[in-house]
Amino acid sequence: MAVLHQPEPLELYALKYAHHSGRRAVDNFIGGDIHQQGDDLFYYVWVARRSDRVFVIDTGFGEDAARERGRHLDFRPAQGLEKLGIKSEDVDEVILSHLHYDHAGTLTDFPKACFHVQPAEAAYATGPCMCHGFLRHPFDVEDVVTFVRLNFAGRIAFHDETTELADGLTVHRTGGHSAGLQVVRVWTKRGFVVIASDATHLYANYRSNLVFPAVYRPDELLEGYRTLRRLAASDDHIIPGHDPMVMRLYPAPSAELEGVVVRLDEAPREL
Ligand SMILES: [Zn+2]
Ligand SMILES: [Zn+2]
Repeated sequence: MAVLHQPEPLELYALKYAHHSGRRAVDNFIGGDIHQQGDDLFYYVWVARRSDRVFVIDTGFGEDAARERGRHLDFRPAQGLEKLGIKSEDVDEVILSHLHYDHAGTLTDFPKACFHVQPAEAAYATGPCMCHGFLRHPFDVEDVVTFVRLNFAGRIAFHDETTELADGLTVHRTGGHSAGLQVVRVWTKRGFVVIASDATHLYANYRSNLVFPAVYRPDELLEGYRTLRRLAASDDHIIPGHDPMVMRLYPAPSAELEGVVVRLDEAPREL
């Protein structure tokens, strides 16, 4: 009988570094009730690692953005990564799901890293769409300038549409929320898990076909929900970008990391 090649599974973690409370339903869903309370947003970076590779997925934001946008910062993402034994100055590879302030800040905390990005996202963040306040609001101009400098320094790796970055780890452009938004499909011991990032902010977005108000193309965003389901082993293998439920559903790797880090390569709890 033929034995199919299976890559070594990656461990997969979510690190919660910030949150935003006091939201209304209308802040999370187009058409949401202006009087109804909305879910908090949690802010995460993710880590996929195994014996041969470590990928950090997104770099989050730092103190300045937290202050300007009224977000509560628990710690800088680089400090959080130390809790997993990862020194940001040693990280070689960072995947940026997109260039919004809460996913692509603190780039200089990763002085050696190569950053994996979709060309559509770079064009979007530096091109004519940024004339419009609505579209540029989720970007921080200083982050975009840093990104451009890194590109001139040869530290951006561009991947168009679907690309395999390692055996068992691929990126896929879904667009929608941002022009070059990419999701990350990771082979784990429980099958393929998809880090959706802002392809779905909350579980409710993709489960009920609801659109988060920060959006570039709603048609692509809604089509992206189908892509998530196609890429993931099951709905339990889709990880939304900002849902507080992720911290309740998945186990912490140790008692001291409770409320800070969860393992996404373990099965979620029944709640
Ligand atoms: Zn975003
Ligand atoms: Zn986001």
